[in-house]
Amino acid sequence: MKRIYMDYAATTPMLPEVAAAMQPYFSHKFGNPSSIHSMGQEASDAVEVARGQVASLIACRPEDIVFTGGGTEADNHAIKGVCLAGRERGNHIITTAIEHHAVLYTCNFMNGVGFDVTVAPVDKYGMVDPDDIRKAITAKTLLVSVMHANNEVGAIQPIEEIARITRRAGVYFHVDAVQTAGHLPIDVDGMGIDLLSASAHKLYGPKGVGMLYIRPGTRIVPLLHGGEQENERRAGTENVAGIAGFGRAAEIALAEMAKEAARLSGYRDRLIDSVLGRVGDSYLNGHRTSRLPNNTNFSFDFIEGEAIIMYLDADGICASTGSACSSASSEPSHVLMALGIPVERARGSVRFTLGRWTSEEDINKVVEALPRIVEKLRAMSPLVKEKCGWINYL
Ligand SMILES: *Cc1c(COP(=O)(O)O)cnc(C)c1O
Repeated sequence: MKRIYMDYAATTPMLPEVAAAMQPYFSHKFGNPSSIHSMGQEASDAVEVARGQVASLIACRPEDIVFTGGGTEADNHAIKGVCLAGRERGNHIITTAIEHHAVLYTCNFMNGVGFDVTVAPVDKYGMVDPDDIRKAITAKTLLVSVMHANNEVGAIQPIEEIARITRRAGVYFHVDAVQTAGHLPIDVDGMGIDLLSASAHKLYGPKGVGMLYIRPGTRIVPLLHGGEQENERRAGTENVAGIAGFGRAAEIALAEMAKEAARLSGYRDRLIDSVLGRVGDSYLNGHRTSRLPNNTNFSFDFIEGEAIIMYLDADGICASTGSACSSASSEPSHVLMALGIPVERARGSVRFTLGRWTSEEDINKVVEALPRIVEKLRAMSPLVKEKCGWINYL
């Protein structure tokens, strides 16, 4: 059976061109970029070409990019690095309730070592109110961290407005752009961003490589010590093949961004309209328009998201409940909770995220399968019977 992959927010397949760009660094071009000889130079050149390609994606200078071991490391570096460098000046950080755990858990860790953390709320569409950020800033605030777009519900945040507030207050602004880099236009100067995280495997590159943009002059310390690599900002021999792949993936993403966003947002809107039109007691989670071109997230009353995913999987459709990170636990997603969605409804949520290999036919298959699956599960659900008063217990 041909499988339909609709979990591009969890990870993306690598493009063949990306694998091809990596291949030489797994074989004959194996030099260490720190070596002075020609084989070292060859590897170092590959890293610098990739730095330029990744810089183009966010319109910054190549030298302001630090390659990391992924989005999680970039988030950790930004938050811990700014906090540790600034602890003489302040001890307060501000973030939001819908951040990825890479940000939230890092803030929580900093809280454990003496930093105060303010977690700004979101509205029922998953949008941060810049005014909440403004009100939270104190003389002790070092950093504000707000994601560009949410990985579960796709809500795109008012980054420029928040940046105007942080700029005026003299507070650093970190943006987790893992879901948007390579998918939406980013201009770190135009948008007023001081630190930005991205990850290769969310833009058709390899897993285990990412980057942190650091605005020149930002007071930040390294996360890893032990070598002079990455301009003394990230010790350890570079993941040359991974970085080369990241660069090539960034180059292709930039070239195809506008076309791909237009194509996917068309599919997204058709999927949303069809599902809400065909399935009763169904809801769209997130904002209708300020939304990632490839994201849909629905709740279906009376049934469990896990059960829907299993039935979809049996039909060859790979989707996700809330988010990949929380699917191992039965706790409802912290993001859906932050949107104020009732727990029972949040449990019945499914995310379909589209991408490069999504076709019109795939959308049709989901639109056909989903109402059938929801109906079958509801027929078995004790919740729906309770609601309709079909069974009187005791
Ligand atoms: C995937 C993701 C991360 C983590 O990136 P990794 O490269 O998988 O470590 C961080 N933030 C967001 C918003 C993500 O979607």
